[in-house]
This record gives sequence, structure tokens and C-alpha cells, in this order.
Amino acid sequence: MAAKLIDGNALSEKILAAVRQRMEETKVVPHLVAVQVGEDPASVFYVKNQKKQCEEMGFKYTLDQLDVKTTQEQLLSEIERLNRDENVTGIILQMPLPEGIDRRVVQQAIDYRKDVEGITPTSLGLLLQDRPQMVPCTALGAVELLHAVVEKIEGLDCTIVGRSEIVGKPIAMLLLSMSRSATVTVCHSKSKDLAAKVASADILFAAVGKPAVIKGEWIKKGAIVIDVGINRIPLKDKDGKPLLNEKGKPKYTTVGDVEFEVAKERAAYITPVPGGVGPMTTAILMRNTLEAALRIKNAL
Ligand code: NDP
Repeated sequence: MAAKLIDGNALSEKILAAVRQRMEETKVVPHLVAVQVGEDPASVFYVKNQKKQCEEMGFKYTLDQLDVKTTQEQLLSEIERLNRDENVTGIILQMPLPEGIDRRVVQQAIDYRKDVEGITPTSLGLLLQDRPQMVPCTALGAVELLHAVVEKIEGLDCTIVGRSEIVGKPIAMLLLSMSRSATVTVCHSKSKDLAAKVASADILFAAVGKPAVIKGEWIKKGAIVIDVGINRIPLKDKDGKPLLNEKGKPKYTTVGDVEFEVAKERAAYITPVPGGVGPMTTAILMRNTLEAALRIKNAL
């Protein structure tokens, strides 16, 4: 029987509605500042989306655009200024940073109370100590999608493929927390026999960034599959030739890391890509942003 889809669009709408309601009740309006050094095209795209989302929520959003020649010292003093500014309740440091700037040093300088992305050492340390405050948005969104279909995961075997600081590792910490107590296996590019680790999982999180790296036939029957991967791949016709749009440019589609068509015949639940973890990331960012503002204004 085909798996049931876990609808990330529907759950993220619920989260956003709750954020709006909380804002209405508390009358606290967050002010999120995105610091961007230079104009990397991917970063420009994210900034545009963040602005749109914040405006839709009624948050104040400021793009703090710095010259590509900004030095690390100058960037650190800008972060310090934003930390001190009582009217700023959230800070996002846009990646990538120009060469010569150490990402970790600058991230560490962000006041953890304003760290809406949950990426400072303090935020990650609090998560490790099982007293989370700001949790990386994609990781939390992925785990909340899991809880949309199963509440109790105590003792269940969870495999996470991917060990990045913003996705794989924080998912592992969330699943290991005392309130969840899952049994967690974390895999990466050096892991041996990935197929066996996936096949043993009651719950699978795929966070790699490679299309179909997880074969559908590896999935345990009845498993829950959360596919975090976002991969743009060119569309091809039946002869394998690239499909072109009206401007003669290649057409693309977005897929996850899991071979969806096969996996959905084995899993009990699976997230679609797009429409799974993607919208959750944005919704959790909005919720983190309001929570940071509430904490700073002592309204939480
Ligand atoms: P990273 O590139 O930082 O991490 C990828 C991880 O996958 C690494 O741990 C790497 O191992 C591991 N890996 C690579 N190849 C293999 C392999 N063949 N077998 C097993 N493991 C492998 O990526 P992110 O964590 O930032 O993102 C992961 C995916 O999630 C990407 O597709 C990204 O686009 C997507 N993403 C989606 C978001 C959303 O909103 N839905 C937000 C953020 C990310 P090693 O550590 O050994 O190199």
C-alpha cells in the first residue's frame, strides 16, 4: 500500500497561524535584521524571501547590506551594534561570507537571545544539554513533521543520513532528548553499508543533498521517511534529452534525497519534496523570530 504523505504546507500554515495569534495577543512586533556582506546570488534570493515572509507576518525586516570589502573586524563591530540595539530582536547572518572572514568567529559574536537560526555555539550547546532555546529551523521543522504522525518515539530506531551542524546533528540531538529517547544512528559520507543502516530504521531522516542517494528498496516496510534534501535536477524526455522551456533554457524539477516512487510503496508515511520540510523551515524561522522578540521584551 502506498505511504501517506506528511503535508508540510498544511502544518507550516498552522504554525504561522499560531504565530500570528500570539503576536496579536502580546502586541510584540519582532524586528529581524539580516546582515549580508556582498551580493551572492543565492543569498540575494533568500533575503528576498525572508523579507516577503516577514512582511506577510507583520514583522519589521531590515536588510543590513554591507560592502563585499567589509573586514572581519568591521563585521564584528556591526554585530556588536545590533546586539546592543534594543529595537533589534533577531539577527540573521547571511551565508556565504566573503573570503577572509571566519564564519564561526562572527556567528559566535551574535547574542544568542537574538539567534533566530539557532546557529551560535550557545544555542547549539543548550540543545546538546537538552534545554533548547533556539533550535536550527530545518532540523526542528523536520522533527515536528515526524510528530505530526507519531507522538511517542521512545526506543525506536532512527537513522539520520547527514551530519551537518544545521540539519543532521541537531536532528540527532532532538531525537536523543530525554522527552523523546529514540535510538539514533547518524550516517555520513564515510559510513559503511548505508543500505543496512537505512533498512534498520523505523524512522529515517535524509539530509544529504544528492538526488536518490537513498534507494527506495532500502526503506523498512512501515517506516516513516522525512526527506530534508532539496535537489534541482534537469528534466529529460523519454530518450534522455533535456527538456527545454519556451526560452530554450533547460527545465528543472525539485526532488529530495530519497527515491520517492519506490520508497512510498514501502513506507507508512513519507514527506513529499517539494511540500515537506521546505515550508516548515520558513514557518519555524518565523516562530523563532517571534519567540526571540518575546524573550527580549520579557513577554514570554
Ligand atoms: P551538507 O552538505 O552540509 O551536509 C551533507 C551531509 O551529507 C554531510 O554530512 C555528508 O557527509 C553527507 N553525505 C554526503 N554524501 C553522502 C553519501 N553518499 N552517503 C551518506 N552521506 C553523505 O548539507 P546540509 O545539511 O546543509 O543540507 C542537506 C540537504 O538538506 C541539502 O539537500 C539541502 O539543500 C537540504 N536543506 C533543506 C532545507 C529545507 O528547508 N528543506 C534547509 C537546509 C538544507 P560528510 O559530513 O562526511 O561530508
